[in-house]
Amino acid sequence: MEDNVCLGKEVEPPNEETEPPGRVVQLSIFPTIGLTDNRSRTQPLGPRRRNRRSESRFPNENAAFSINPRADAFRRTHFPRVSTAEWNDWRWQLRNRIQDREALARIIRLSDDELKAVTSGRGPLPVAITPYYASLLDCNDPSQPVRRCVVPVDREYFHHPCETEDPLGEEKDSQLPNLVHRYPDRVLFLVTGYCSTYCRYCTRSRMVGNRGTYRFGHREWDRAIEYIERTPTIRDVLLSGGDPLTLPNDHLKWLLSRLRRIPHVEFLRIGTKVPVVLPQRVTMGLVRMLKQYHPLWMSIHFTHPDELTPETAHACTRLADAGIPLGSQTVLLSGVNDNVETMTRLFHGLLKIRVKPYYLYQCDPIPGSSHFRTPVSKGLEIIRGLRGFTSGYAVPTYVIDAPGGGGKVPLLPEYVAGRDGDDLLLRNYAGDLYRYPDPAGNTGESAGSGFRMCSGPLKE
Ligand SMILES: *Cc1c(COP(=O)(O)O)cnc(C)c1O
Repeated sequence: MEDNVCLGKEVEPPNEETEPPGRVVQLSIFPTIGLTDNRSRTQPLGPRRRNRRSESRFPNENAAFSINPRADAFRRTHFPRVSTAEWNDWRWQLRNRIQDREALARIIRLSDDELKAVTSGRGPLPVAITPYYASLLDCNDPSQPVRRCVVPVDREYFHHPCETEDPLGEEKDSQLPNLVHRYPDRVLFLVTGYCSTYCRYCTRSRMVGNRGTYRFGHREWDRAIEYIERTPTIRDVLLSGGDPLTLPNDHLKWLLSRLRRIPHVEFLRIGTKVPVVLPQRVTMGLVRMLKQYHPLWMSIHFTHPDELTPETAHACTRLADAGIPLGSQTVLLSGVNDNVETMTRLFHGLLKIRVKPYYLYQCDPIPGSSHFRTPVSKGLEIIRGLRGFTSGYAVPTYVIDAPGGGGKVPLLPEYVAGRDGDDLLLRNYAGDLYRYPDPAGNTGESAGSGFRMCSGPLKE
């Protein structure tokens, strides 16, 4: 299948380093499923192929990456002539993304609703799903959470009046088209508009997948880096997009090395969904390159426990073993993950693969997202159902990215029950009341004191 224009530039990295065969990371949490037959590792190596278009310099090394039984069955059904080594090659995954009605209809039984949405094809967001992620979809159930995240429905064409193209006001805070400098000490650097798989609730639907007038390339990167160089207050650079890990290693290396050379940039991080939708991208070559640019952190976009496969565990294990602290960012989505049980399973699963739940986001009001949004009370209920009931490490910070450019505003269930003289009254996770001696304080005196109400963004 021919892919879109983006791919020609992005997917054929010269000299993409690939892992040596035989170095399989054993996953203790998935002892039996997942890893391919070990015998494949002991096959004799073929001669090194110099052809850059070849799937790999070591014909069998991709086979060393995990493939779960469900994905393997999917491969045999839908790509019977494709070997596991090819399947495990991230470039093959990108070239064979599912992007149109015909391809979708081959892998799932499209509902009337989905069919209508993909047929019109002019929705706010492109459709693309890696074959790997497609293997996680339930072919009969359109309400399956991971399916809802990537297959469009007719509701995407319904625009609620509160929805806007750029709800977070990123354009307003953009010194350059691809650099958002909202907070004093850190910037959001949008390095690509390309993702391997498009989430239907994407907060940057205005710019991903070659929609809009955004341009990405060395010229734009140079300008952004020059801005960072001449702005000494920036100590933290967050690479996002689009998905930075869809860039070839040499482009990423170029970006990271340029940023690392800037003395005031202390901290680099990458926001990505690659370990979830394209875990095969996390090659040993990639992690060897990334670990040269420490301190480098990573925020991974996880949505549902169904995404916690051996493949994703394998990718996260490699990243964590390379010393990259991993956090997750999860969007609260109606009918997808909006209950305590699902979130608990997700966050427990993440801790097992060394990912710390970092943020839980209220869904941003992008056009056509009303079917994904929950009331804010739902997010608070989830946090209340986690805190105290499970490991503190499993509890993310629930935030609303304030429309209009206010930045992330944290929300907590109310644990302050009031005040009794010198005592602050606290309610614990189980609902019991406790006193804390706080003679010099006034916290809890009256709800809402100390806050000023305003309508719309207030600038001081
Ligand atoms: C989320 C975000 C950041 C990073 O925020 P942290 O709370 O430090 O993770 C930086 N800039 C922008 C514009 C953001 O939206």
